Amino acid sequence: MEPSPATQKASEPCPACANPAHIPVGVTSRGYHGLKCIGCGLVRTHPMPDDATLNEFYQGFDFQKPDTVEIPRLLPRIERSLEHFIGRAQPGARFLDFGGASGIYCLAARNLGYDPFLFDFDSNMIDFARTQLKLENSTTRLDEVPREAFDVIFCYHVIEHSNDLGSFLGTLRRFLKPGGRLVLATPSAENAEKYVRVQHLARYWLRLTRARVSAMAALGLVLRRNSIFCWDPPRHLFAFTGAGMKSLLERHGWDALVQHGYSCDPLFEPRQYITPPLSSIFAGPGRRVVRNAITWAEGVALKPVSWVLPEGGEQLYCTARLKN
Ligand SMILES: [Zn+2]
Repeated sequence: MEPSPATQKASEPCPACANPAHIPVGVTSRGYHGLKCIGCGLVRTHPMPDDATLNEFYQGFDFQKPDTVEIPRLLPRIERSLEHFIGRAQPGARFLDFGGASGIYCLAARNLGYDPFLFDFDSNMIDFARTQLKLENSTTRLDEVPREAFDVIFCYHVIEHSNDLGSFLGTLRRFLKPGGRLVLATPSAENAEKYVRVQHLARYWLRLTRARVSAMAALGLVLRRNSIFCWDPPRHLFAFTGAGMKSLLERHGWDALVQHGYSCDPLFEPRQYITPPLSSIFAGPGRRVVRNAITWAEGVALKPVSWVLPEGGEQLYCTARLKN
């Protein structure tokens, strides 16, 4: 798939901090350029794919296969993780999971005392949530999400898929009750894990083989200082730094606290990152052994990183309230 005609000029300022200057950080095999803001470090995509291109891309795209066996196993851990970020509910508090796929966070929120509501564009996920998880308050339609109704809006790994950050935040704000909180998580472009996760490195270099030579040089320099592994157009159209996320939210009228979290999401265990590129080299019975060995080695390697570089982390977590 080729990028659609540009809907955003490369010369436009950074959508997070409005700094006009950027440096190129690479070109993907699909022809998307990564532009990194020199002010806040946000990496954005150019040309930015339009809605039609994204709709086409996501047809039949499975983010997370709903699974009634896995859900009970994951639920207690998700509940603990969610409680850490949103706490237990005040009586009657309402929770919106915006882009929440099959609805497991809504189940967790319900266990924490919230009245949950699930929104996702994917009708397969909403069907699953309604029939299997009995989440009646779930929809694929934005116009069915109640306005100014929610005490907490939870938005987990969604914003980086959006092609227009301003309108995305504007949509969220419509659903928030006055005084309510937005809790948003996204992959962190500053994470330290790129140094220890073999598969991320492999992905980088696989992607770069077809990049332009001039951009390669720039990227070689940039990579030594900053990860952009979470930039992956047309899927992840932005890779956020803490500073970029904070200025984005503040410029759109939110008071924001942005923290780095270290792989606290139980849905994204390190072992899940170990997939084909490396392990497929070893076909047959050796494969499982190799895979387990890599998983173990990465587990060991990741531990000291989380101590030595506490600012590094897999994700950014933001808690934001609208300014008065
Ligand atoms: Zn910026």
